[in-house]
Amino acid sequence: MLELRDVQAYYGNIQALKGITLSVQAGEIVTLVGSNGAGKSTTLMTISSVVGVRSGSITFQGRDITKTATDKVVAMGITQVPEGRMIFPALTVLENLRMGGYLRRDKNGLKEDEEKAFTLFPILKERRKQYGGTLSGGEQQMLAIARALMARPKLLLLDEPSLGLAPIIVENIFDVIVQINKEGTTVLLVEQNAQMALQIAHRGYVLETGMVTMSGKASDLLADP
Ligand code: ADP
Ligand code: ADP
Repeated sequence: MLELRDVQAYYGNIQALKGITLSVQAGEIVTLVGSNGAGKSTTLMTISSVVGVRSGSITFQGRDITKTATDKVVAMGITQVPEGRMIFPALTVLENLRMGGYLRRDKNGLKEDEEKAFTLFPILKERRKQYGGTLSGGEQQMLAIARALMARPKLLLLDEPSLGLAPIIVENIFDVIVQINKEGTTVLLVEQNAQMALQIAHRGYVLETGMVTMSGKASDLLADP
């Protein structure tokens, strides 16, 4: 479904990615793990075209998207949940959720998808009239994922959903990721918490200083930390 070949990316003179090669098959949960600064977020941002690719290529469903603009990438079915969640504090939970609907071409079924989002995250239904700014970190992460799902992505890019959250909340969020994956959404999950990410992923890649240093089935990577 997604293929990165020898992707290199820079911030000014700093080379953040030194040749990332990886693939995601339809139906998988694939995780990118590795320490802070390894290039995980940058890899996601090259896919969504937030960061430009200096050399190498990215294909999605057989089409070259290396230089495709972010809005076109979203329209093709790739939605990113950014690090930091980006909830609008002065909009309500429901209004924030509806923002995700703007990203899609086909506006049919928006109401059903809102209900579906509230079924995945019942706490968001309770809080639907509250302002985004009043939510806890975990609730904001749930809302960020729910909003991204409103775009009906084929491939969901998740950047550190566990960041700063209590283990019980992370478990709850990961359960939902597993559920939406079972229902057909392919997931590329960036996580610093490798132990947790590899529990739910099918396969994983370990990144270090802009390179892939290990890859394989999640169970093998878990056994060989
Ligand atoms: P990770 O997500 O694995 O923590 P990043 O992709 O955020 O890693 O960062 C990869 C490298 O790029 C790091 O060396 C980081 O310092 C650098 N970097 C990230 N964002 C920027 C930026 N906006 N400007 C300059 N350097 C950056
Ligand atoms: P902003 O007003 O902050 O630019 P948008 O209205 O463009 O935000 O985007 C709202 C939501 O769209 C984001 O929270 C995210 O779910 C999704 N989104 C934003 N940027 C991207 C991207 N580069 N790739 C995929 N989805 C994105």
